Amino acid sequence: MSLDALIRRALTDEIVTNFETERVRRDGELIQVSISTAAIHDADSAVYEVVAVVSDITERKRMEADLLEKEKLRLALNKEVELRNMRNRFMSMISHEFRNPLSVIVSSGDMLERYYARLSEESRSEHFANIRTYAGQLTDLLDDILALLRAESIGPEFKPAPVDLAQLCENAVGEARLKAQNQWQIHFANLVGQTIIKADEKLLRHALSNLLSNAMKYSPPQSVVSVKLWQDNRWFHIQVADQGIGIPPENLKRLFEPFYRAENVGDVPGTGLGLAITKQAVELHDGQLEVESAVGLGSVFTIYLPASLAT
Ligand code: ADP
Repeated sequence: MSLDALIRRALTDEIVTNFETERVRRDGELIQVSISTAAIHDADSAVYEVVAVVSDITERKRMEADLLEKEKLRLALNKEVELRNMRNRFMSMISHEFRNPLSVIVSSGDMLERYYARLSEESRSEHFANIRTYAGQLTDLLDDILALLRAESIGPEFKPAPVDLAQLCENAVGEARLKAQNQWQIHFANLVGQTIIKADEKLLRHALSNLLSNAMKYSPPQSVVSVKLWQDNRWFHIQVADQGIGIPPENLKRLFEPFYRAENVGDVPGTGLGLAITKQAVELHDGQLEVESAVGLGSVFTIYLPASLAT
């Protein structure tokens, strides 16, 4: 804006206007200035004077640029620290979560190879079952890691199609009940009827199964896990509530980051990947994942899916 234009605006708008620009000082140096103008009125409210104040703001601008630079540097450093932390968490997860199943597989394999003839039928079956279970655990682990890495490099696989949400929850609950083997009671309250939505069934199923298996993993046997599905104007809510160990408030904020685990997990095995994958699956549906928790009382995880997904 030119000074002329600024004065014209002051005349018409009758307000103080302010703008920043560059000017060449008399000694030839380029400086930054802020120009403010105001119209001054006489008693009849006619404008009789326009006042313009020009201030040299070069120093202020330089300090602002400095601050901005420092802030950028701070953010870059934070990112670097976060990356390092993630790498450390990844390495410690790999060494814990791979080593344990591998050593069981190796020792059961050894036992079978060396003492096959001497082992009872029952012991042989136990060793074979160990190998199957722990190899399965490793496969799940690899699948999770690959899903996350693939999503980061080429984007996640997302194939939405019509699916009955109530049925999907029913199936996930049924599967969890099988896993629970009567050790946990899994209640399901379905407050919507048949509800066809456009969603990626595999991803949603995986997300809900993760929440269900965490609810069991982090709560004592014989406790209740409650699943509730309901709908309001904006969202479908799928809620999984447990009566388990809960999550310390200071850990809640980062809970959905890959490889992050709360400090109260004790010996409970885990990778810190499930919730990151769950969150990703939910967000692909334009939904949200939220958690509320109280240490010692339990946790409530809620998947919000937009009501507009209904077909
Ligand atoms: P994992 O269970 O394999 O560690 P997740 O990504 O599924 O990984 O969960 C991340 C962390 O969140 C867990 O390590 C645990 O600290 C916490 N968490 C998740 N679900 C629950 C729950 N239902 N109750 C208590 N803590 C939980």
